[in-house]
Amino acid sequence: EGNVPHIFVTLGASGDLATKKIYPTLWWLYRDGLLPSNTTFYGYARSKITVDELREKCHKYMNVKPEELEKYKQFWKLNTYIAGSYNNADDFKALKKALNHNENGIVSNRLFYLALPPTVFESVTVLITNACKGLKGWTRVIIEKPFGHDADSSQKLSDHLASLFKEEEIYRIDHYLGKEMVQNLMTLRFGNRIFSPTWNRECVSSVLISFKEPFGTMGRGGYFDQSGIIRDVMQNHLMQILSLVAMEKPASIHPDDIRNEKVKVLRCISPLNFEDVVLGQYIGDPEGEGEAKLGYLDDPTVPEGSVTATYALAVLKINNERWDGVPFILRCGKALNERKAEVRIQYRDVPGDIFSGKLKRNELVIRVQPGEAVYIKMMTKTPGMTFDMEETELDLTYDSRYKEVKMPDAYERLILDVFCGSQMHFVRSDELSEAWRIFTPVLHQIESEKIKPLPYKYGSRGPKKADEVCSESDFKYYGSYKWVHNHVT
Ligand code: NAP
Ligand code: NAP
Repeated sequence: EGNVPHIFVTLGASGDLATKKIYPTLWWLYRDGLLPSNTTFYGYARSKITVDELREKCHKYMNVKPEELEKYKQFWKLNTYIAGSYNNADDFKALKKALNHNENGIVSNRLFYLALPPTVFESVTVLITNACKGLKGWTRVIIEKPFGHDADSSQKLSDHLASLFKEEEIYRIDHYLGKEMVQNLMTLRFGNRIFSPTWNRECVSSVLISFKEPFGTMGRGGYFDQSGIIRDVMQNHLMQILSLVAMEKPASIHPDDIRNEKVKVLRCISPLNFEDVVLGQYIGDPEGEGEAKLGYLDDPTVPEGSVTATYALAVLKINNERWDGVPFILRCGKALNERKAEVRIQYRDVPGDIFSGKLKRNELVIRVQPGEAVYIKMMTKTPGMTFDMEETELDLTYDSRYKEVKMPDAYERLILDVFCGSQMHFVRSDELSEAWRIFTPVLHQIESEKIKPLPYKYGSRGPKKADEVCSESDFKYYGSYKWVHNHVT
């Protein structure tokens, strides 16, 4: 876009997200020469701080190398900070004045990142619209979860935003959509003839989508307790992955063609039944070390006796021709045995077995993090003078196959997408409302009936009941597969 000035405004610049994620990301994009050449940055919040103080707050997250110091100084020279409230029109007029100051009088494009608690979303978006929208160039607003608390509150927020901005101006971040392996799902599925014809109820027995975290709330349980793991992870991140795994092939790779398919597959899913949910809450492990000794209820910021789930499993069914009868199992939890996010497509047993029951099912595993990988678990003849067989894998491990590639952070991709105007990796309002439709009834039931979650030990794999439900849902675990990590260099 030539030399058109771009203005990036971070509202809530003093906060956690801004200092840990947004400013570092802006710096990396600037450092790598990826931003339009005429971009300036504005921070806005109530705290009366200077750019130097903001720089201090951000510094430890910026990863500045000694040879980049000069560029780093230039980056901060392009920054301005303005203090003001979130509900006073005069303060936003002052912001407007500052933004206009840098405009060449011709045209400027403006990005507003709302790194703010949702309580001030409404007033801030109104004030931006009234005072700060780009009059000649485009305006884009970036917002973060939570997008409401249930179907009604989310719809209210969407209606409010729609009264001020066009859908093309709204960028709802789900940072899972910025991850390499999530972005790869489209290519894997629609770019490989070996997968596309088998991606259905004929061949697939179940799909397991997991998110595991090895730590608890660690004194930050206050915010978490009001949402719980279903709102925090399942309704958004896991459902986004599910829709990319399950959707039909879009008419093109145009963002709206893709998002149309995501909405369509969500519409084939009935609201989740309570019978198809397992809830858990972690308890301390007396034999664990440090943090692991403490349960969720030992976190002083968690209300006494809270029944908020820190683990959830849900089995969803997709009522369409491709997936009828195939369980989609979503699982997420805190204080588990490992950090991991992955998708497992488990294939059916081979019909007409001639190997006396020795076969194990094929499984396609797409590991999102840590250590991106795609592998297919498969049977092979044991090599050598034998006619035995064994489980092995076709393995694409990124850090050995793509050694030289620097994997950008999810936020780098997503913020760059906003500059470019690509909404492919952002959540459209109708997708959001479908996801809430599926989860709201069960969330309300869990809350009104104060359902007690099952206890599980800090550092374990979660409640036993979850494994039982997986196995009832046609996901087989054999415990026989051995992976040999092969470091050929
Ligand atoms: P935060 O640090 O709590 O708040 C950001 C800034 O907003 C604060 O520095 C503060 O600035 C102002 N603020 C805080 N509480 C306020 C209140 N009650 N009323 C008015 N202003 C208030 O929040 P955050 O962690 O950066 O998150 C920002 C948004 O991103 C939230 O919607 C959050 O849910 C979402 N999010 C955050 C993360 C993360 O990693 N932190 C991840 C996903 C989503 P001043 O006092 O200087 O005005
Ligand atoms: P696996 O050993 O057959 O296990 C499959 C999954 O079953 C596990 O990930 C585990 O996930 C779950 N599980 C574990 N114990 C269970 C139990 N008692 N009951 C029910 N489910 C249980 O296969 P894998 O996990 O795919 O591979 C084994 C190891 O090799 C993994 O660490 C994997 O990362 C590694 N590997 C790496 C690569 C690579 O980097 N390219 C390739 C192949 C394998 P949950 O705990 O989440 O339930």
